[in-house]
Amino acid sequence: MSKKIKLSYFALFVSFINLILYQYPFFKFVFANKNIGSFNGVLFLLSLIVASILLNAFAFYIGIYLMRVVGKYLIILLFNISAVAVYFINTYGVILDRTMIGNILNTNYEESTSFLSFNLFLYLIILGIIPSIFIYKADIIIPKIKIFALNSVVTLLLLGTLAYVNSSNWLWIDKNSKTLGATTMPWSYVVNTFRYYSHINKKNEKQILLPNATIKDSTKSIVVLVIGESARSSNFSLYGYDRNTNPLLSNIDNVNHFKTQSCATYTTAGLKCILEHENTGKLYEILPNYLYRNGVDVIWKTTNWGEPTIKVKSFQNKDFLRQNCEGEICGYDEILLKDLQQEIENSEKNKILIVLHTNTSHGPTYYKKYPKQFEKFSPVCKSVELANCTQQELINAYDNTILYTDYILATLIEQLKKIEKYESSMIYISDHGESLGENNLYMHGIPSSIAPTEQLDIPFIVWSSNTSKIIKEDQEYSQHNIFHTVLDLLSVESPIYEESMSIYEK
Ligand SMILES: [Zn+2]
Repeated sequence: MSKKIKLSYFALFVSFINLILYQYPFFKFVFANKNIGSFNGVLFLLSLIVASILLNAFAFYIGIYLMRVVGKYLIILLFNISAVAVYFINTYGVILDRTMIGNILNTNYEESTSFLSFNLFLYLIILGIIPSIFIYKADIIIPKIKIFALNSVVTLLLLGTLAYVNSSNWLWIDKNSKTLGATTMPWSYVVNTFRYYSHINKKNEKQILLPNATIKDSTKSIVVLVIGESARSSNFSLYGYDRNTNPLLSNIDNVNHFKTQSCATYTTAGLKCILEHENTGKLYEILPNYLYRNGVDVIWKTTNWGEPTIKVKSFQNKDFLRQNCEGEICGYDEILLKDLQQEIENSEKNKILIVLHTNTSHGPTYYKKYPKQFEKFSPVCKSVELANCTQQELINAYDNTILYTDYILATLIEQLKKIEKYESSMIYISDHGESLGENNLYMHGIPSSIAPTEQLDIPFIVWSSNTSKIIKEDQEYSQHNIFHTVLDLLSVESPIYEESMSIYEK
């Protein structure tokens, strides 16, 4: 049996539920960043609560007045998404700004199932489905247009008064608008999803071609660029970590590592910085496309995603690689090394670039990213709710992924050493770092301007068979050095090549 309820009461009621169930992240941020102890602080807090109820009620009021039953179902949909959103915010300390929405929309099915947990279902049932039943059952009386207009004007006047009374706090709101907007349900993900797609439309312009390049000599040379995922340098023993996570690389001659920060904290932006010649905000031709267009053999193998458009001889994604693979390694990043030697032997070109886009250290299921024999550090965290593990269990699992990365890179170098007719180099750089519970943050994706160093400090490791090449001393590098260093190693001459950006002396 359903009860009749006036639209204005219904909107206020639903808005109140919205406040109680989903605005915890918003008020948590306010409490942590605003002094609430003073009279002004209390007034501000009360104003925020009233404004939050009024604004959302107003939105629901207009929505249902205009869309009727469709509006009701829309609110049900939003409440269920909010329940999931609050779960992720509470569990992983993320905020739902435009780039985080992009990360979520770019996550593939396999990766998203690794987030499934009992608590997520609990959130969905208590915060999503139960309130939905109440909304579904409500029989709303739609007001006449005169009443609708009157209620709207009164609400706007009330909101205006609230804004006026709190004028001293406008600056604070403006300063924190990004975070406040990203924690307000349901508008954080509604607005930021629109912002994400309009951003994509803008970015989908054609890549601007770079000026033609020429290959300077006929020396046979290969560069293998390995792009890491969520690897942070502080957990590599090469960078001084007190656990031996690089037992193999540390025993190979001519392996160098550099202090480097990523320019972003999420995959697509990190990749763009690694592949672009400079940071312009525009979409220039990226390294593999540029080299392929100018006569270099380019192969891209990936077990990851988030690549910009790649136009090369051979692009091999995870599905492709797995089709042609048998055995234990097929589920892990070693699959990227399979057939590599053969593909190099088959090439008819003097210059080859191979990009291996890995995913080994991607959370939250670090323990699933390496074969059992690499579980040197234990016990490991096996929950997807990282806060449920001790920090040590989490670090153990993560360190095992670094140990496995060490093995992959060392194996790759050994393979390259065997290909004697080519001069070869291996470059490893991560897309961004990772938080492992420091400051209660997990994973990555905090806007880079406020991101902790754990999410920015990345490994940049280089090996070359050509021992006569001299590395510049005492340099700090960025992801943009990759483009120029690869051009240098392959002897590619180009008007946009910058000698100062190569890690090697001339
Ligand atoms: Zn990434």
